[in-house]
Amino acid sequence: MTHNISEYKDVWVFIEHDSGKIEHVSLELLTKGRQLAKDIGCKICAFTVGDNVEIFSERLAEYGAEKFYFIESPVLKEYRTEPYRDSLLYLIEKYKPEIILIGATTLGRDIAAPLATKLDTGLTADTTALDIDFESDAKNLLMTRPTFGGNLMAVIYCPDNRPQMSTVRPGVFQATKNPINNIEKIREEFELLEDKIPKKILEKVKSDSDKVNLSFYDVIVAGGRGIGKKENIKLLEDLARTLGGTWAVSRKVVQMGWAPYSRQVGQTGQTVHPKIYIAAGISGAIQHLAGMKSSEIIIAINKDPQAPIFDIATYGIVGDAIEILPRLTQFFGNKLK
Ligand code: FAD
Repeated sequence: MTHNISEYKDVWVFIEHDSGKIEHVSLELLTKGRQLAKDIGCKICAFTVGDNVEIFSERLAEYGAEKFYFIESPVLKEYRTEPYRDSLLYLIEKYKPEIILIGATTLGRDIAAPLATKLDTGLTADTTALDIDFESDAKNLLMTRPTFGGNLMAVIYCPDNRPQMSTVRPGVFQATKNPINNIEKIREEFELLEDKIPKKILEKVKSDSDKVNLSFYDVIVAGGRGIGKKENIKLLEDLARTLGGTWAVSRKVVQMGWAPYSRQVGQTGQTVHPKIYIAAGISGAIQHLAGMKSSEIIIAINKDPQAPIFDIATYGIVGDAIEILPRLTQFFGNKLK
């Protein structure tokens, strides 16, 4: 089924939240969405549901949201797919946004697919770039994502159906403030009955896995298989702590069981763009680069002078990472005292 695309307008960003806090990726998408809305000549809007979400409007205005659509209900206190889907669907069907951006988080991925199915439109998952096709009359959204194991980038667009939907990887875009004074708040009512929802949340259990949002850090010290053994993760930790940053790894290191997946950078891990990315014992495979190549300064440490990581490095150190990492820790430890 094709839609009457002229009925759809504005860029909408889904505001993901947990325990009264907005997820950072939503602010990143508001920033990017602002630029897209300017390109198309429409408004940038935020939308969400929850039990107490109006409180977010001030922060959303700081990031330039012109309108904020929301539904509040005690039934929406904790995330469950069905009530979230139905209430979000109500907002989308009523106001018909042209573009919907959702963070490619666990929650975002869970909600985006049933929404797209119900709306009978396309969804591009895990997008890493967003642009407008100025050649097309409808100014279609061009959504780029890696494909074939990261060896090709596919540009996907959705010319006949609306909304154009995309989940976007956290950390791909920067979040920058652009305050506006008068955000328009649109509260909608949608009836939800707890009795009709089959899923119940009995207890929330905090995962003991080491969860970290790498994209929050300005300095990342990352290690690859070249660090040799699990115990050497400490060398990454020590340097990261000295520089006020955090540590990360390549997929090989996760596969070896030396570090949890939550520390992985790359195509199937997290995307980061810190001010400084130190890559120690990382060869520079395309799938790793996909997650860190937009870092401002890349310092590569590798004992192979031909390692591909040197092709994108700002500074390169040819040598043994096991020796060099502690020396850097000592050097900066003394300097920063
Ligand atoms: P290697 O490629 O084995 O490189 C080790 C490097 O360490 C070498 O360059 C070597 O010269 C150097 N070295 C060895 N000893 C020392 C030493 N003592 N001091 C200094 N240097 C030393 N990879 C990711 O990282 N993230 C992803 O998200 C990701 N997703 C993937 C998705 C798919 C579908 C596929 C197919 C692959 C993916 N990969 C990913 C894997 C990727 O292709 C590479 O295999 C991986 O990045 C290599 O990790 P590495 O650089 O640590 O190891």
